[in-house]
Amino acid sequence: MSNNCTFCDTSINQDKFIRSANKNTSYFECDRCGKYSVNDLVLNQIDFNKAPNSKAILSYWIQTNQNKENPPYITTELVKNILKDIKLPDVGEQVHNLILYLGNTSNYPGEILDITLNNIIAKVGSKDKGSLLFIFDYIIQNNLVEIQIFGKDSLRNKNVSTFKCNLSVTGWGKFGKFNKPSLSGKIVFMAMKYDNVELEEIYSENIKDAVKQTGFDIQLLKDVLRAGSIDD
Ligand SMILES: [Zn+2]
Repeated sequence: MSNNCTFCDTSINQDKFIRSANKNTSYFECDRCGKYSVNDLVLNQIDFNKAPNSKAILSYWIQTNQNKENPPYITTELVKNILKDIKLPDVGEQVHNLILYLGNTSNYPGEILDITLNNIIAKVGSKDKGSLLFIFDYIIQNNLVEIQIFGKDSLRNKNVSTFKCNLSVTGWGKFGKFNKPSLSGKIVFMAMKYDNVELEEIYSENIKDAVKQTGFDIQLLKDVLRAGSIDD
């Protein structure tokens, strides 16, 4: 016996579903959305047909909130707030999310990944499988991904739900760019000799505060460039 996910309709095995009748909630571990609990009232009180893509937005929101201590608990109030504030990522962001996913999932460059489309729709932030295939098609046509079965033919007209692929060398280049910590914003960097106690004291006691008063944040270059990119 299985139940279906409230938001994406993926079928959920019995061992990944807990019904708490006295609390009026159900707990799901969905391959697409992730783990969440939902209050019974949500389905009665929210008209999902009223807002376009509403279920896809909730699925995406749940997936992006998986790293918290507890799985999200979805109430009517929360759904209203999410649908008011959150949109699905635009095409550029979805390409970005997909490249990051493929890079982060690979243990080493060239590793061939087993892709199950349904499991990454919400991670990328696509509306549905067809919309995710549109993004996949783009990165294949732009040689960012090598796909094992279909060559460079369009995926979109094919009725596929799984396939194998890997990031190309060009794709890894993009991944490297996307994966860098963002250094935007009002941050200045200070390069100084390492392991000089006197200098470090001056930095932490005086310079940091002085710079902060100007509206900038200061960071030591050694704290930012741990990966050694200055030498690479
Ligand atoms: Zn789901």
